Amino acid sequence: MSTSLLYHGFGIVGYQYVSQRFQEGQVTFRVRQPRERLRCPQCDCDDVWVRGHEERTFRMVPIGSKPTFLTLDVARVWCPVCDSVRQVKIGFADPKKRYTRSFERYALELSRHMTIKDVAEHLQVSWDTIKDIQAKNLQRRFGKPKQHKLKQIAIDEIAIGKGHHYVTVVLNLLSGAVVFVGDGKGVEALKPFWKRLRRARAKVQAVATDMSAAYIRAVRDNLPRAVHVFDHFHVIKLFNEKLSALRRQLYHQASSAEERALLKGTRWLLLKNPENLDEGRNELQRLEEALDLNKPLSIAYYLKEDLRQIWSQPNKRTARRVLRDWLARARASGIRILIQFAATLEKHQEGILNYYDYRISTGPLEGTNNKIQLMKRQAYGFRDRAFFKLKILGIHETKHALVG
Ligand SMILES: [Zn+2]
Repeated sequence: MSTSLLYHGFGIVGYQYVSQRFQEGQVTFRVRQPRERLRCPQCDCDDVWVRGHEERTFRMVPIGSKPTFLTLDVARVWCPVCDSVRQVKIGFADPKKRYTRSFERYALELSRHMTIKDVAEHLQVSWDTIKDIQAKNLQRRFGKPKQHKLKQIAIDEIAIGKGHHYVTVVLNLLSGAVVFVGDGKGVEALKPFWKRLRRARAKVQAVATDMSAAYIRAVRDNLPRAVHVFDHFHVIKLFNEKLSALRRQLYHQASSAEERALLKGTRWLLLKNPENLDEGRNELQRLEEALDLNKPLSIAYYLKEDLRQIWSQPNKRTARRVLRDWLARARASGIRILIQFAATLEKHQEGILNYYDYRISTGPLEGTNNKIQLMKRQAYGFRDRAFFKLKILGIHETKHALVG
């Protein structure tokens, strides 16, 4: 080892090589900081007096598979300008850290391909050390998302695991970046977000959410000028739930065992899009038999198919006509579940048709949701909430292995 190898190979600048030691499979280099390099950490003046040392040891990038350390006596200096005694700054490591910046960069590079556990084992450091390095990097890059340029956003709550934990996630629909992660769901979860939006003076034009009353109130109160678009996937999902409820109801009312058997097998067929029905398994035929036999089910099924048409019209005017026609047919069915659903749809029709002003949805949050579900399998998910939220903020360009 030499001073210039320290410099060129390890990025250690301004320190002189003193000695090296090989012991118990570890490599340790001792370096010293030349007297003329000493500066006051506060005012940077070089007219300082040494008042003792403290030996400190740092992890460096390993040599081969050998853990490698850097040891030096860090000077404490008295500065006549500041009239105080302080430890000089370390040029190659962040304050209070026991590893060099090049070690951090190396750990982050490995994290792109390996789990935290794998990186920690490979570098022979603790799991928490690698987690801290990742957290610091995430905090620097994503900890304070820029809100002032937000134009179109989607908001949705995402369930974490089976413990009924939720996070509420806000997505910038134009960039695909997560810009806020709130604890829980509902009005409370979003409060800090509205506060930040106001402070950033953002001019949000359009928001996509589901039709829940909490979102309607929150958007009206906090973004009165934004166009509120009700997400069409949620509308269709809600109708599918009604359809399943109807099938269940008809099953219990069925008069014959044969009819019951027919209804029993149709649960998934009813929810499938017709183009996805499997010919080889006679799915279309089985579905048609059940529909022929049961008029209410058949009405509901064809209404389900037509519901999607609301979002595939050339413009808002024809979409409004399709929607009204749909409502009329649902009401004429005389089926209670469908009439109730029609009332919900009518009440929210402006927000549904707003899709024709801004063709947005919460669909892009599905991708975020999938990645969060991968992450949540890790034990740290809720043990370290702050880290988990940082990971979600960085999820759109995550370069860390999701598992680990
Ligand atoms: Zn000073």
